[in-house]
Amino acid sequence: MRSHNEGFNNNSLKKRNRGLLFKLIATGQCSSRIELAKTSGLTKMSVTNIVSEFIEKGLVTEANLESKMNVGRNPISLTISGNAPKIIGILVGRDSCSAVLCDFKCSVLKKIQINMEHCSKEKLISAVFALMDEMLNYENNIIGVGIGSIGPVDIYNGMILNPPNFYGIENLPITDMISHNYHLPVAFEGQYNCAALAEKYYGNCRQFHDFIFLGITNGVGSGIIIGDEILHNAFGLGSELGHISIDYNGNACVCGNKGCLETYVSIKVMNARLAEITGKVNSFENYCKNYKDNRIDRELTEMIEKLACALTTAVNMLHCEAIVIGDQGNYFPDKYLKRLEDIINNSKISDKSRKITVLKPYFGEEAQLFGSAVNFMNKVFHSNEFF
Ligand SMILES: [Zn+2]
Repeated sequence: MRSHNEGFNNNSLKKRNRGLLFKLIATGQCSSRIELAKTSGLTKMSVTNIVSEFIEKGLVTEANLESKMNVGRNPISLTISGNAPKIIGILVGRDSCSAVLCDFKCSVLKKIQINMEHCSKEKLISAVFALMDEMLNYENNIIGVGIGSIGPVDIYNGMILNPPNFYGIENLPITDMISHNYHLPVAFEGQYNCAALAEKYYGNCRQFHDFIFLGITNGVGSGIIIGDEILHNAFGLGSELGHISIDYNGNACVCGNKGCLETYVSIKVMNARLAEITGKVNSFENYCKNYKDNRIDRELTEMIEKLACALTTAVNMLHCEAIVIGDQGNYFPDKYLKRLEDIINNSKISDKSRKITVLKPYFGEEAQLFGSAVNFMNKVFHSNEFF
């Protein structure tokens, strides 16, 4: 059974009490000392001491919630201070590099994007440094940098490995590049694990302990949260749901397998197919807007059925509570996600009474970007070293 008192049952968490309390305040889960004690399982005395320390250091502030309805003492609410340090998130994508500056409430202070056509290793590095420089010119109270990247990635060595069609860029030690140049701590993750974290702490998945974030773009990628943590193996590898096969005799995939999901439902494949049947080249967003065209509806419905086939396999392995369809999947009209939800719930093997929710990201197409920053916040939440 899962305990609601996150601080009780796990010794490693006891060592991370500061990070845990800071997380509960930052993510808005708790706004008073009493709530913090209840949720964390720590004693009121420990909570009071740690919160006082946060206030002294300018990390947290007490706001008087003025209420005209209630005469008497106004409730006091704990919140992240405006003086608390900020976080830079950098997202390395195939077509662009973006950066976001945010606070620990995940409010955006500044956002920049650099498009990268015909990129090279040198151009990518200078784009990342240009984003960092501009953010640091704007704000100097930075606690650290979170990087999200197209995969595959080696999170322990901070390297972008060998993404397909990525201008021949391989084995880029992006974590070292940034930490050496800017002397800031860095957290590094695959982009959809980042997106999943953003949804978990600040988005539509706050109530879920186990869920999948499926990102559909020119490839299909995934981030998985199980037991409130990102799913990795011992070497730091994350999930690759785009390479679940839906046909053992199907399309040949770059990975060597046949019938991989992404060979059928990537946006590149879908756009080519939709252009062919409608005779009109358009963006996936615009095709989705025109879903009432029967020809488009048929293709989108078939796409959903293929997604359902692969996702049911994932659900049977992971028994998750929810699936977020993100990146350009964010453009699906609601009826398709409802259809996806229905098929998965009717086809999964176990616990038919527990319904799986299929939803869109709160952060929309920007879940990966915000997630890059949240990835660093996650490091802070899991550690004492920043306090
Ligand atoms: Zn494959």
